[in-house]
Amino acid sequence: MWHTLPAEVPLVAGKAVRHGGNRLGNSRCDLEWVQWLPEERTDEQGRFFTVIASNSPSASRTGSSLTRMHMPLDQVAFLLDFDGTLVDIAPTPESVIVAPELKDVLRRLRDATGNALAIISGRSVDQIDAFLGDIPFAVAGEHGIAIRHRPGGPIQRAALPSVPSEWVREAQELVASFPGTRLERKIGGFVLHYRGAPEAQAELRRAAEAWVKPEGDKFHIQAAKMAWEIRPAGVDKGYAVSLLMEDAPFAGRKPVFVGDDVTDEDAIKAAIRLGGTGFRIPIDFPTPAVLRAWLSSLVPVGEKTIAAGTEA
Ligand SMILES: [Mg+2]
Repeated sequence: MWHTLPAEVPLVAGKAVRHGGNRLGNSRCDLEWVQWLPEERTDEQGRFFTVIASNSPSASRTGSSLTRMHMPLDQVAFLLDFDGTLVDIAPTPESVIVAPELKDVLRRLRDATGNALAIISGRSVDQIDAFLGDIPFAVAGEHGIAIRHRPGGPIQRAALPSVPSEWVREAQELVASFPGTRLERKIGGFVLHYRGAPEAQAELRRAAEAWVKPEGDKFHIQAAKMAWEIRPAGVDKGYAVSLLMEDAPFAGRKPVFVGDDVTDEDAIKAAIRLGGTGFRIPIDFPTPAVLRAWLSSLVPVGEKTIAAGTEA
């Protein structure tokens, strides 16, 4: 039985791709992501299913190296971005809405994966806690700078240089001169938001380069959604994936990362490098709602979940 999530998504290559769900079959522990390309329906039923896994989303972008991978839930770990992935992007970071079913889905997912559920976000760990409480087992905040490996555990912070205070002062003056832009301070760096003034994009980028370039490879400029982020180099979401996967309950599992932003590509690459896979919204899932539906379909309500190391 195929659980279909009805959504059409344009690919970079221009193909329309319809997303399918996981193949539940005789066990809801199968983790298979299925896409079918309408113009390639070549089998006898007129439907050609392509199962992509190990190198998505790059595979779906290039159309190459589509591979099939069978991933039982008791062997995978879910590492998920928050904004734009589990919840829709909102006008301000404070105004995102956690869909009522999301907490329940995440709880079921954590149960089904023997606690191997982490959130990896650009937000602080505290902010993720405010939205999700103790549901994720581990939380990596600030793009991997701050990591809490288990509920109630200490937040470990990467030792990083701080941006020079004159950059911050100049950034404050800069956003003041472009109404609609906004400066967000972060530990280790800051973000120049231009969602409210898209015409300022190039000017803000020029300023960021003027600060960062003379510093060699100590800091780098990260493109984000309608924003430039200046942050210490070397610590990113891929680093967070690698670090989390070293310890229980993640170690020994295959990481499945889902994100929506350029900053998530590092994590997708890390997940693939560690034998897992990565998906990106809107390439592999058109919206957070479709991702939530897919996650929910992996761990249906009312079915007994299988914790790590136990029998069905
Ligand atoms: Mg995001």
